[in-house]
Amino acid sequence: MDSHTVGVLGGGQLGRMLVEAAHRLNIKVAILDSENAPAKQINQIAAAAHITGSFANAEDVRHFAAKADVLTYEIEHVDTQVLEALDSESPFVEDSQSWRRIQPSWRTIRQIQDKFVQKQHFAENGIPTADSKGVGTTSPQGLKEIGLELGGLPIMLKARTQAYDGRGNYPIMNLSDIEPALRALADRPLYAERWASFKKELAVMVVKTKQEANVDTYEQITLPFPVTETIHTDSICKLTFTPPRGVPIKIQRQAQDLARKAVASFEGTGVFGVELFLLEDDSIIVNEIAPRPHNSGHYTIEACHMSQYEAHLRAILPGLADTIEPGATDLAVNAAVMLNILGGPEPNSHLLVAKAALKVPGAKIHLYGKGDGRPGRKMGHITIVGKSMSEVERKIHPLIITADSVRA
Ligand code: ATP
Ligand code: MG
Ligand code: MG
Repeated sequence: MDSHTVGVLGGGQLGRMLVEAAHRLNIKVAILDSENAPAKQINQIAAAAHITGSFANAEDVRHFAAKADVLTYEIEHVDTQVLEALDSESPFVEDSQSWRRIQPSWRTIRQIQDKFVQKQHFAENGIPTADSKGVGTTSPQGLKEIGLELGGLPIMLKARTQAYDGRGNYPIMNLSDIEPALRALADRPLYAERWASFKKELAVMVVKTKQEANVDTYEQITLPFPVTETIHTDSICKLTFTPPRGVPIKIQRQAQDLARKAVASFEGTGVFGVELFLLEDDSIIVNEIAPRPHNSGHYTIEACHMSQYEAHLRAILPGLADTIEPGATDLAVNAAVMLNILGGPEPNSHLLVAKAALKVPGAKIHLYGKGDGRPGRKMGHITIVGKSMSEVERKIHPLIITADSVRA
């Protein structure tokens, strides 16, 4: 389908599902990660181009870049200094003199990987988001004052960088939480956010097919996937329901438009995951963006005409970005539910959930090949699609009970 080699920085489960989508289209994908990373286990087409190393190591990234025509990411915690240097040395794909080799842009990754910079970027681009303030102080009194500037407690204290699955967040509900919060996040660069008392968390995957950043032309440069409802426990995504339950179509459209504008504000192409809060008054704000396929978009594999993984590959390749037509991202079913399979107390606890799913007709089981489970580690997921939300809710119910008993 395309003669270029796509180099992916990172080879976890998202990289693995990118490889699955690439295989069907016979697109060559090379992976930079450790020896037996999940994405490498199933990838033969470009196995010769794999590099053993780290996406956070400049030398490894440079070595890897020499083997790939287009570079992309499955994780945002990459070294952007080396990407900036590579971009100035050879900015374009060899046979396509206006298509950037690094998609989306390293500038986008740099803006997003620091969550406080990301928040400021939204504010500058008129994208509604929770008010936030940088935390330069380590004194409880200083943080108390920042809390007052944000409208009083509660606030959410967050690490600016290297955050995932809520590791880096500390909710400050009252004054006695301030000292433990500062201790828990000591030595990390911090910022604080106004508390968002949302009634639902939503997410929208957005595919950006044009390289320029321009919020005003979001309708020409992006396409949205359906809105999905995300349920988090302990700050980790547990379930998604698509379409979101009890959210009127008008609000779903607003969520898609906001997500598209937010993504249109960044340079480069690819799929972005946009996390949103639906507030009590039905207004919507952006929580954060991931510059890559996202956990809340796993359901697209079984439920949409085109998955987020296929969309990402097509959007970053010069000859394929313009082939994504409106409608390609639509739901092909009436309802979909996705359950994350998390690690439990024993290395194989998570397999209990996967085995229970074998007995549910239509349950699609994805296991990531990560080896031993640990509590809270994402080991796989299950998607069920159907004719109605009540049908998929009924089918997933016993699996949720099994998953909860494994975690408890
Ligand atoms: P991810 O794995 O999605 O990258 P993360 O570690 O970057 O997670 P966030 O998305 O910032 O963390 O927050 C995790 C969860 O914490 C959110 O999904 C939401 O449930 C809650 N949360 C985050 N910010 C706020 C806020 N300002 N007010 C209330 N709840 C919040
Ligand atoms: Mg995050
Ligand atoms: Mg998040």
